[in-house]
Amino acid sequence: MARTRREEPKATRPNEFAHMTKEAALARQRRKCAGCGTHIFALGEGGRTQHQYGEGAQAHHMRAVQWGGSSEAGNCVILCQSCHYSAHEGGNYRYSAVVGTPADYPHYNG
Ligand SMILES: [Zn+2]
Ligand SMILES: [Zn+2]
Repeated sequence: MARTRREEPKATRPNEFAHMTKEAALARQRRKCAGCGTHIFALGEGGRTQHQYGEGAQAHHMRAVQWGGSSEAGNCVILCQSCHYSAHEGGNYRYSAVVGTPADYPHYNG
């Protein structure tokens, strides 16, 4: 029986945004947090020291994957850590399925 070998590195989780997708979303937002408008210098932990309140920036699925949300840039919003926490109703990341629209994010387009 033939053994199957996977040559490619294991893909990221299918519901994760690709780095390029996050960068595209951040550019659309004119490098502002989609929620509060604070300037975001870098994705992830990198911009922490320059952030107004020392927070990292996180990518958020505007419409949760379990509600049919895609992993494309249009469904990606970049938020400060605390704005992300708020979007999940107080850090309820696992059980609070967020179904948002661009209208919920004042800085969706910068
Ligand atoms: Zn924010
Ligand atoms: Zn989220």
